[in-house]
Amino acid sequence: MKKITGIGASSGIAIAKAYRLEAPDLSFEKTTIDNPDKEKERLDKALDISKQELEKIREHTKKSIGEAQAEIFSAHLLVLSDPELINPMKEKIDTDHAMAETALQEVADMFIDMFKNMDNEYMRERAADIQDVTKRVLAHLLGVSFPDPALINEEVIVIANDLTPSDTAQLNRDYVKGFITDIGGRTSHSAIMARSLEIPAVVGTKEITTAVEAEDVLIVDGSEGEVIIHPSENELNSYREKQELHEKQKEAWAKLKDEPTFSKDGEQVELAANIGTPEDVDGVLNNGGEGIGLYRTEFLYMGKNELPTEEEQFDAYKSVLEKMDGKPVVVRTLDIGGDKELNYLDLPEELNPFLGFRAIRFCLENENVFRPQLRALLRASVYGNLKIMFPMIATLEEFRQAKSMLLEEKEALTKEGVDVSDDIEIGIMVEIPSTAVTAKQFAKEVDFFSIGTNDLIQYTMAADRMNEQVSYLYQPYHPAILNLIHHVIEAAHAEEKWVGMCGEMAGDTIAIPILLGLGLDEFSMSATSILPARTQIRDLSKKELAARKDEILAMGTAEEVVNYVKDLTE
Ligand code: PEP
Ligand code: MG
Repeated sequence: MKKITGIGASSGIAIAKAYRLEAPDLSFEKTTIDNPDKEKERLDKALDISKQELEKIREHTKKSIGEAQAEIFSAHLLVLSDPELINPMKEKIDTDHAMAETALQEVADMFIDMFKNMDNEYMRERAADIQDVTKRVLAHLLGVSFPDPALINEEVIVIANDLTPSDTAQLNRDYVKGFITDIGGRTSHSAIMARSLEIPAVVGTKEITTAVEAEDVLIVDGSEGEVIIHPSENELNSYREKQELHEKQKEAWAKLKDEPTFSKDGEQVELAANIGTPEDVDGVLNNGGEGIGLYRTEFLYMGKNELPTEEEQFDAYKSVLEKMDGKPVVVRTLDIGGDKELNYLDLPEELNPFLGFRAIRFCLENENVFRPQLRALLRASVYGNLKIMFPMIATLEEFRQAKSMLLEEKEALTKEGVDVSDDIEIGIMVEIPSTAVTAKQFAKEVDFFSIGTNDLIQYTMAADRMNEQVSYLYQPYHPAILNLIHHVIEAAHAEEKWVGMCGEMAGDTIAIPILLGLGLDEFSMSATSILPARTQIRDLSKKELAARKDEILAMGTAEEVVNYVKDLTE
């Protein structure tokens, strides 16, 4: 038995065999062959198996994620059947006596280079398709296994150096019981997605990929951030008991599913959920969410090869609004950048992507991307209670510019005779210190704030939220953070505006009493945190906590804050 610790990213316990998700070694030595016919047969066979796999993945993706994401695999299938690509490979085998591997790679590379340099975005996307499918065919020619998270069909725990949000989106929650990574933090987006998929996860272990072989039996304790490799019979039994307890606890929480959220002294707050896709809404309702406090629309743009159309977006927004049936839904406009990349946009690499050309900065410069999203949102607004917020706002000018584009699109739609709601609140994420500090000025112009602590903490403490080496500085309870939050809430309330929080801190058991005392109106969190939070808030007195806020805000360190809150609530 060996124990490894990391950061508990998604609670719950999983016990299963390890599945290593890693890029395969596709290197090979080039030689010539004697029998071209046999070599062409090898190539055909590898192409056939790849096609069968891609068909399966396409079907699976259609069912589990959606039609739009499945299209990427249709594009891949087209590539594999394209005679313009396949015939030159066979010619190369015939004329040069090249191995199938060489013929495949050289011809594919030629097309990739040609398409990559074209002006046309569609052709550039084809280059990415060819690159992807070539790897799969090559793996079959070499007899190397090619990991396909979407095709996992037995219970496993996925092990990876890192998981991108689009890898995470492909995980089938029926079979993937947990995941563990070497890098990443609690607020990296794959961790956030693990919580919405309700998959126990431990991230930032630094060594899981070196410590674990495929098929090793593992226990993941996502609540404690622990992984046990080759557990003993005793450990298996004790974790199974823990698993049962967790299930029982969930049943107890479930009793509060349809209750509003009141503190012990009768003050009401709203508990909302963060979602990434329309499919997440069922989980929100099952977990008693009173609204959506953050819909991260960027996932609509990820895991595919091109921008979603206005129509696709409209369908997604409409479906969330309808399913929420009049409950508030805060949709955030595209927040791309940082750890959320869009390969097909071909943006230049940046030295500091978290501080770079991202989110609203990118949208204001790329109206061809931004305006269709605004139109889709406005058109969907009549199907429910929509609120729109802009991410990464650093200056008032940015907010004014984004808002005026929204109003222009509204006017254009109205002129076209399209119905748009007149009650759409327009707010901003407060996640950059400049905006938190000038919250008074912003409060006069916005309808609401939603505090994005995931980024606010990293920018205030100058500690990358993805970097486990500086995770000690990533301190939600640091008095600097608490004072900024307090300042934002006071500024909003002075203008009679409401304040939510959609950073992960909103669902944190130590932070909740502090935030309640500071007067936060809406707490938006992973769906699975809602019922525990409601249970906790019912035992807290907002008045008593508010009376302690000055004392907490004057503390010197995060540790003092934590000890104080623990003393108070235990
Ligand atoms: C945040 O920064 O707190 C936030 C909610 O946004 P994201 O995690 O998507 O950056
Ligand atoms: Mg953010």
